[in-house]
Amino acid sequence: MNNRLYGNLIFELSKEGRKGYSLPRNNFGDYAIPASLRRLEEATLPECDEMTVVRHYTNLSQNNFGVDNGFYPLGSCTMKYNPKINEEMAALPEFQHLHPMQPADTTRGAQAVITLLERSLCELTGLARFTFEPYAGAHGELTGLMTIANYHRSHNDERRRKVIVPDSAHGTNPASAAVCGLEVVEVKSTADGLVDLEDLKRLVAAEGENVSAMMMTNPNTLGLFERQIPEIAALIHECGGLMYYDGANLNPLLGACRPGDMGFDVMHINLHKTFSTPHGGGGPGAGPVGVRKGLENFFPHVSPYHGNFAVMMRAYAYILTLGREHIKEVGPLATLNANYIKECLKDVYELPIDGLCKHEFVFDGLKDKSTGVTTMDVAKRLLDYGYHAPTIYFPLLFHESLMIEPTENESKETLDGFIEVMRKIAEEAKTNPEVVKAAPHHTPIGRVDDVLAAKHPIVTYRQLKNETTEV
Ligand SMILES: *Cc1c(COP(=O)(O)O)cnc(C)c1O
Repeated sequence: MNNRLYGNLIFELSKEGRKGYSLPRNNFGDYAIPASLRRLEEATLPECDEMTVVRHYTNLSQNNFGVDNGFYPLGSCTMKYNPKINEEMAALPEFQHLHPMQPADTTRGAQAVITLLERSLCELTGLARFTFEPYAGAHGELTGLMTIANYHRSHNDERRRKVIVPDSAHGTNPASAAVCGLEVVEVKSTADGLVDLEDLKRLVAAEGENVSAMMMTNPNTLGLFERQIPEIAALIHECGGLMYYDGANLNPLLGACRPGDMGFDVMHINLHKTFSTPHGGGGPGAGPVGVRKGLENFFPHVSPYHGNFAVMMRAYAYILTLGREHIKEVGPLATLNANYIKECLKDVYELPIDGLCKHEFVFDGLKDKSTGVTTMDVAKRLLDYGYHAPTIYFPLLFHESLMIEPTENESKETLDGFIEVMRKIAEEAKTNPEVVKAAPHHTPIGRVDDVLAAKHPIVTYRQLKNETTEV
């Protein structure tokens, strides 16, 4: 990797008078821009030759890590391979150049895609209708909870303001409930990582008439299949609440079982995870929300048009490519790959909950705690070996969580390569812990202060005459 220019901003490469363009001769005469519209000071623009610009951006782009250049085992995120045919379909000019204000009778093809995608998702989930307005999973959760609130309101049941959320839930669940103005009540997990039914019974006995919904992820964020969904759903329905399914990560059960059949009433799906749109860094996404028959009348409007159409297009291409027959192989392969890694590493990494996992699993750091090497150190050291770090310090159930999701697409050779490196790091932790603790050594930037970067991100850059200042 050529990192010679890394760290330089294009402004820092600027040399007065350099040019990378030439404008054609003006054949239109001079028109004065009204003084009120003219800038008072010269704009600060970088002055660079074309080759400097090309190299600068090409070098920056090579510092990106993505599923197209390496293994990306980020648990809960489903960083799966994005088939290129999806991109071709989404880039067809007939779809790409659509405008949301176009007359409806000129967008029939796009409308058909949405209808057909809805039909496929209904079949995959066992629900009756979907809205495609939400732009992400968290947006879908909010939309789903608003749908449930509208339903309760229609029954004059407005005191239902509590949402039951397992303590293993994805952070967006309690956050969405809070944004919706609801109160989060946490239900505990048992020692084997599942919802504690006794704790739930206690909560329902105390709060039943105030329960709006229960939110669940299944398999949960520990990668474990919740075996008591029928009992849980019965408890919640009997007290008048609805069951919400966080289907952000639908990979393990695609075509194998359906949330609608398990007793869920409302769910969202992340098309950008399970249905293979490239994502990360905040977008693009789509979090369509599905509901049981009758609840579609309570959908709120959460975006001005139809949502993120290009993401829907990719999802539909993905579904058609696999077809009814092969979509059923996604879950078993994702599950096999996760279990393979888990079994090959559990003698050196601490596996707090043993047994079969689904699409992902969680280690609680290294088995040998005497080395002082933490999950953070392991994650940083993986970067030196060319792997993206797994999800770390989530879920919060363990102190040193390290959550791995390989997805269905990776070859045995890729998995073996990753396993070998994870074992090597465990060995280094014993023989040379300092090298792990000081990692990464081979990336453009070493260890940053994560808290400072998250709490005080520097997102603007201002140039003052000859000196440069970050503000
Ligand atoms: C990713 C994820 C979400 C949030 O989805 P976004 O599109 O990032 O908003 C919610 N729940 C679970 C279980 C997830 O994995």
